[in-house]
Amino acid sequence: MADAVHDSPTGNRGDFDSEWARVLGRLKKEVGDTAFRSWFRTMTLERVEQGEGTVSVPTRFLRNWVATHYADRLLALWRAENPEITRITLVLDRQSKPAAVAEAGDAVCPAAQSEPDGVVIEPHPPAEIGEDRGQLSAPLDPRFTFENFVVGKPNELANAAARRVAEACVGPVHNVPFNPLFLYGGVGLGKTHLMNAIAWHVRTHAPSRKVIYLSAEKFMYQFIKALRFRSTMDFKEEFRSVDLLMIDDVQFIAGKDSTQEELFHTFNALVDQNRPIVISADKSPSDLNLQERMRSRLAWGLVADLHPTTYELRLGILESKAEQAHIRLPQKLLEFLAHKIVSNVRELEGALNRIIAQTQLIGRDITLESAQEILHDLLRANERRVTIDEIQKRVAEHFNIRMAEMTSNRRARAVARPRQVAMYLCKQLTSASLPAIGRKFGGRDHTTVMHGVRKIEELIVGDRALAEDVELLRRMLQS
Ligand code: ADP
Ligand code: MG
Repeated sequence: MADAVHDSPTGNRGDFDSEWARVLGRLKKEVGDTAFRSWFRTMTLERVEQGEGTVSVPTRFLRNWVATHYADRLLALWRAENPEITRITLVLDRQSKPAAVAEAGDAVCPAAQSEPDGVVIEPHPPAEIGEDRGQLSAPLDPRFTFENFVVGKPNELANAAARRVAEACVGPVHNVPFNPLFLYGGVGLGKTHLMNAIAWHVRTHAPSRKVIYLSAEKFMYQFIKALRFRSTMDFKEEFRSVDLLMIDDVQFIAGKDSTQEELFHTFNALVDQNRPIVISADKSPSDLNLQERMRSRLAWGLVADLHPTTYELRLGILESKAEQAHIRLPQKLLEFLAHKIVSNVRELEGALNRIIAQTQLIGRDITLESAQEILHDLLRANERRVTIDEIQKRVAEHFNIRMAEMTSNRRARAVARPRQVAMYLCKQLTSASLPAIGRKFGGRDHTTVMHGVRKIEELIVGDRALAEDVELLRRMLQS
């Protein structure tokens, strides 16, 4: 570096030289010897004047390469040494005059036009830095707040845990009793909603906290981009300096080994600093097809499972959404939807939105019949192709009775109740009519089936154990 000094137009030349040597030293550490030799060793400090550092490089190619890939890093490192440095001009060797002198905000730089050999590196204007941040963290959905999240038995643990993380993040010290929080459950059950809710909470109550929320897919994309542009240091720094990191749909990086590795190290760095992490996936950690150490890391904190919705939760969600939309719908209609659209909340919302749109269009309440028409495709999809035989078989197995009891005349509760559960599920999960169902149950009358269905509907409101049995069976039959 000694031969870097050609002339010394400013006073503390020696200071600048040692500053610059330290910048290069840090750069070397970051990029490794080989890359350093290829790209940076020939860089020479020409001078420092009024906050502008002029550095020369031997070739145009090198100059452009450094400017494209290392501009930000170079400036950041130098500014860490000397905050007065506001920009760097890269010039070609023996071109001691600054080629481009740009002022912030200059659209076109006349000097650069007449002398195209210099490249000026300046900090991004704040707007751009903001955009960069925005790129890392995915945009939040304004509807996905805790206030809008309806809590029921299937999601109460996940909700409580998410709230706990959100509150810990806005407190004076990050005090998370578990780390990471791992949320998992089938599609459309509220994982993304809860993560957004945490982010909104922190953004509202502690806006200075740095929160990154993004999908695992986007994490991978950012990581690959960093590799390609050799800015992995920035990437690591960015992710390891957050107050809260949330990665959605981590199942996406199954089989993506280097991304998993990077995420693993990021986790460790954050956990060491007691920074909360929230992860979501469609499966439990042990069922994810990830590296073993990753799986055990994920299961290290709290694992909260979002269960398939129950009828009560679906009804609650419909009521809440209708209220948010300032629409009053007949209770019967909401109950009908809660009964029929059992797959997930996203479809339930879709159904409700169609009904709302239709109601507004025709300007009066929708009847059950027309609702069925409007939603016929959704209803059909929710029926799946479960057969009555299958339902009977599963229910018999579950309650440990013989299949023959489904069609027998025995009325003992031990067999009558499971039979009613099977009828109820047939009504819910198939499009068979009541008489058709009756025939399959030993030629029973349609009123008997109706009675059975009603009985179960009534019972599951108060009988938790039965409700869970029914829910479990429904899930098994639909999977
Ligand atoms: P996931 O990420 O688990 O696939 P989302 O969080 O995207 O599911 O949820 C799908 C939709 O259902 C969203 O519009 C969300 O607001 C809604 N939703 C899910 N669960 C609830 C709930 N308990 N209360 C209110 N809305 C919910
Ligand atoms: Mg999601």
